[in-house]
Amino acid sequence: MKLSVYGKGGIGKSTTSCNISVALARRGKKVLQIGCDPKHDSTFTLTGFLIPTIIDTLQEKDYHYEDIWPEDVIYKGFGGVDCVEAGGPPAGAGCGGYVVGETVKLLKELNAFDEYDVILFDVLGDVVCGGFAAPLNYSDYCTIITDNGFDALFAANRIAASVREKARTHPLRLAGLVGNRTSKRDLIDKYIEAVPMPVLEILPLIEDIRVSRVKGKTLFEMAQSDPSLEYVCDYYLNIADQILALPEGVVPQDAPDRDLFSLLSDF
Ligand code: ADP
Ligand code: MG
Repeated sequence: MKLSVYGKGGIGKSTTSCNISVALARRGKKVLQIGCDPKHDSTFTLTGFLIPTIIDTLQEKDYHYEDIWPEDVIYKGFGGVDCVEAGGPPAGAGCGGYVVGETVKLLKELNAFDEYDVILFDVLGDVVCGGFAAPLNYSDYCTIITDNGFDALFAANRIAASVREKARTHPLRLAGLVGNRTSKRDLIDKYIEAVPMPVLEILPLIEDIRVSRVKGKTLFEMAQSDPSLEYVCDYYLNIADQILALPEGVVPQDAPDRDLFSLLSDF
């Protein structure tokens, strides 16, 4: 199964992705996480360091795919999760979609792309152009991370529109929303009333999750020495279990921008 994780910048996509990947591995699945954000820190809490990107490796080898070995680009992370960072195009030039395309092409050449039970693409904030929607071309499901605020829900709605668009030609479904860093969900509930889609989980702001980023560890790794954190892991295990149950998901009918403004604002 291929799963893309989208959401506004800084909302917690990478943190959530890493912990979902470990949760899926805990359920016995062979998992690959592919960071598709030029920020290339998607897999940091899995490996504890910034691994070389595919684009850097391709450049180093002058785009001779035959000179690249799996161990040049696939790194082992915590819990047995395999990690890849696609990297980004040169800032202000090039195309993010091209980078994702090259990454998938290389993984296929290395016979790695179909080797996994789950491939998780950790993508980007706003889907500003077709390039950023490229991972959806390879995905069965999309999951959106959001908080209970206007900006993240506005981005979620644009991602929903991309899923609707791609689903015309491709069996892609929106598995649902994950609320993150919020215990309130009134705006999330308003949004899903207008644009029906499942809510997989609502994760509150948890100081130990913030700290996990600095420590370069997933919550599962931190819980090994501090069992009081197991309750946090349960949130991620719950998301993993719902994904593994192959939810029906939805093809969303995104709301017009103006409707969103009046729906989610006080004026
Ligand atoms: P993104 O990948 O969407 O840009 P990150 O996963 O890098 O976002 O998260 C941004 C910051 O928010 C990180 O410092 C992370 O530790 C923190 N964070 C994410 N989720 C939570 C949460 N539920 N509680 C507290 N901090 C969180
Ligand atoms: Mg990220």
